[in-house]
Amino acid sequence: MKYAEVQNCIGGAFVSPDAPKLDVYDPSSGRILSRVPLSSARDVDAAVIAAHAALPGWSGTPIKERVQVLYRYKTLLEKHIDELAALVTEENGKITSEARAEVLKSAELTEFACSLPQLVTGEVLEVSRGVECRVEHYPVGVVASVTPFNFPIMVPNWSIPNAIALGNCMILKPSELVPLSARRIVELLQEAGLPPGVLQVVHGGQEAVEAICDHPGIAAVSFVGSTKVAQIVYRRATSHLKRCLALGGAKNHLIVMPDADREMAATNIVASMSGCAGQRCMAASVMVAVADTEHVITRMAEVARAMVPGTDVGPVISAAALERITRYIDEAEAAGATIVVDGRGTKVAGREEGYYIGPTIIDHVTPDMRIAQEEVFGPVLVIVRAKDVSEALEIENASPYGNAASVFTESGSVARYVMEHASAGMVGVNVGVPVPREPFSFGGWNDSRFGVGDITGKGSIGFWTQAKKMTTKWNKEAGVNWMS
Ligand code: NAD
Repeated sequence: MKYAEVQNCIGGAFVSPDAPKLDVYDPSSGRILSRVPLSSARDVDAAVIAAHAALPGWSGTPIKERVQVLYRYKTLLEKHIDELAALVTEENGKITSEARAEVLKSAELTEFACSLPQLVTGEVLEVSRGVECRVEHYPVGVVASVTPFNFPIMVPNWSIPNAIALGNCMILKPSELVPLSARRIVELLQEAGLPPGVLQVVHGGQEAVEAICDHPGIAAVSFVGSTKVAQIVYRRATSHLKRCLALGGAKNHLIVMPDADREMAATNIVASMSGCAGQRCMAASVMVAVADTEHVITRMAEVARAMVPGTDVGPVISAAALERITRYIDEAEAAGATIVVDGRGTKVAGREEGYYIGPTIIDHVTPDMRIAQEEVFGPVLVIVRAKDVSEALEIENASPYGNAASVFTESGSVARYVMEHASAGMVGVNVGVPVPREPFSFGGWNDSRFGVGDITGKGSIGFWTQAKKMTTKWNKEAGVNWMS
């Protein structure tokens, strides 16, 4: 084992819970990197106690002082980018450029949190003579963040900087598949001056998450992961009357019009479907090819075939994921779809035990096929044909998901039409991965998000705070009126 057993962090100290352990694998080699504890409700309780102990001091610290920690943390993320990116590559498998992008994005998320003092200044107005109303934002209290495997550093940083800048104390439950990065996040925050107890890390799986949903000492739960688990977590947390924002899976449709710029469309679409081995909730999954788009498809196939697994495309997360993705492709082929580019059976020299699958493009898929409807979460793009933009939008709208959608066209009116009518929370024009960047918020619609608000950007302020409305009258001459 390259790394010591993963530990929880409670009240600023790293501790080993008395819990069963799970092996942690390097997806590029299949080798065991470490072991992660599957924490219990007792461990969650210890984290909640530590968070509550820190809460009065932290929430009582002025926000301008709190964000000083985050300024330093941002600098530390940048300073340690090579080391952090290498760790992400090791535990998640993504290639170095993708791992570095994840760290850079974490710095951008932290930069936004540093700007929160300018955004939560509150409001004040004299509402009648001598009477003043003001609104101030208060922390929610002890909150939790449950995160998935596909961004071991970035997704925890969707929630941590904003939640703690706004005065909350947090319990992070990272994915048990990628638990190593969380320790470095905590260590860098500690180095930046974060007081003990403001951020706890509890490792584990279902049992720990259920304990987070059930614990009366946790006021809010943010979740990012698959739709199936997002629904479970949303239902369970809200059944205990706590606020919950649960982001789920995706099936993103990219509509390609015949007038699309061939090179721009082909390169952006292939980058979207193959980046991070297709394991992004914003990845292109279904291309809806409108009328004659053969020129784009031919070029896409060239671009995808030129990609070198192991260099341009990393492995998928696990042997089970590789098997699931391969099964989807086999099934589509058996149902009559055409495999244009086939990534099955990929082997990388020297890493033969790694979980590799090359970019795969499948044409003549029909909307009723399983591969056109379900999230595959691998470097696989299916092409569904449509006669016009209305039919393309019907196909997009029929998906129960609603994370992202894009259109590739040179026509402003078609672009606007798709932006208005796509049933997705994040839409793009000539962009393969339409992720909004700060200060804009990230968040989908439909079965890609349960709960109100967004997880990042300005939209997250409402989730991580509660507004207090204050009405005051000091002016004795103000008298009494119908509102008194
Ligand atoms: P997952 O749902 O399997 O796991 C997410 C988290 O839930 C992990 O921390 C895991 O330990 C926990 N968990 C798993 N099963 C549980 C259960 N039964 N009860 C309670 N907790 C449970 O997701 P994953 O495989 O780690 O991540 C991939 C998924 O995440 C994809 O569906 C992807 O689209 C989605 N995702 C969505 C977004 C978004 O913003 N919408 C972003 C990233 C990833």
